[in-house]
Amino acid sequence: MKVFKFGGASVKDAEGVRNVAAIVSANLNDSPFIVVSAMGKVTNALEEICNSYYQKNDDLHQLIETLKQKHFEIAASLVPKNDPVFDDLENIFAELYWAVEEEQIKAYDYEYDQIVSAGEMLSTRIVAAYLNHIGIPVQWLDARDLIRTDETFREGNVDWEFSANKITAAWHDLQLNNPGACILTQGFIGGTSDNFTTTLGREGSDYSAAIFAHCLNAEEVIIWKDVPGVLNADPKEFPEAVLLNEISYYDAIELAYFGATVIHPKTLKPLQNKNIPLRVKSFLHPDLPGTVIGKDDFKNTIPTFIFKKNQVLISISPRDFSFIIEENIRDIFEQLSERRIKVNLMQNSALKFSLCVNESNGKLKEFIDVLSQRYKVLYNADCELITIRNYTEELSKKLSNNRQVLVEQRSRNTLQMVTTNINS
Ligand code: ASP
Ligand code: MG
Repeated sequence: MKVFKFGGASVKDAEGVRNVAAIVSANLNDSPFIVVSAMGKVTNALEEICNSYYQKNDDLHQLIETLKQKHFEIAASLVPKNDPVFDDLENIFAELYWAVEEEQIKAYDYEYDQIVSAGEMLSTRIVAAYLNHIGIPVQWLDARDLIRTDETFREGNVDWEFSANKITAAWHDLQLNNPGACILTQGFIGGTSDNFTTTLGREGSDYSAAIFAHCLNAEEVIIWKDVPGVLNADPKEFPEAVLLNEISYYDAIELAYFGATVIHPKTLKPLQNKNIPLRVKSFLHPDLPGTVIGKDDFKNTIPTFIFKKNQVLISISPRDFSFIIEENIRDIFEQLSERRIKVNLMQNSALKFSLCVNESNGKLKEFIDVLSQRYKVLYNADCELITIRNYTEELSKKLSNNRQVLVEQRSRNTLQMVTTNINS
């Protein structure tokens, strides 16, 4: 069997759902286990709903109604009026209304997961209903019963043993009771032992697909995307980007870690551990082979570029001209980890520890304020982190041209530069 993951862009409208159905129908021989994300932009809309609820804004009901209308319209153009999916959608919206009618007494991250998870519940109900309607038998499952996590809301940690038991039991159950049907479930979400919903981090549906594949020893995972595969650069920034046919897990993990958005960084480990290849393919051109990520002897030598914008470079020095020592670094990292701030690059010298982080982390200001009580803290906002794997001097010059390089780091394969506009 294979695990197929369809992202938000592939199911953004009724046309998209029909296309997904065509892909599934052409690949029934693979006994696909189907993982679906929320319809395009729906997770963002739900984040807005969550913020509106939290800030007690007036637009809350309007935002929910807009989302409701969108899903009902898509469903209505796919299945007949009397399809039970409309009751399912009503129920999901009823739950959403309950969630936002409560007092905001629980932590934001908890509320976020209860609200934002609705996107995947809605999309999977619609896709499953359409597949069943056109005669592709599908068993819809609730991923919250399959993937067990702890209570780290917005970034649930998976209980692998428990989840593996649930997932294999569901699979065997299907073979026994409904052979020939496909399983279809949500990406991105899991559940705690108290039946609360958790999410696995933004763009986490790839990771869900990897969890299912790992637990079921799948033959392959296919992530169906709106790009032809893994390219050596973002084609939006780099029109001459080329497709990489094969890359190793190692290269792919490095690329994802440095910020290539094509695969969620947590996706690769569960697959590498079981030697399950990951194929990234275009849902618009399903006949093209895409990129295969797998064996270590897939050596990529093509230069690969990753541009991470909206970075802040922070430099931290003791106030009294003493060295930065291990205790300081421990202190800094404790503050980072408490606020779940991810470090994209770091460097230290005798008197200074520098780190580059995403501007978007809501706790960054607090981090800087806390450290400023003990250290001299300076920062540059609006930086760009440029990473080149398989770099050459020529490429390094070309990319830093017209930019000021604030920090540079090189290994044999990888060059990283934190840069800013020359006149900022
Ligand atoms: N729907 C979620 C998101 O947009 C998960 C995913 O698409 O992978 O972040
Ligand atoms: Mg997505």
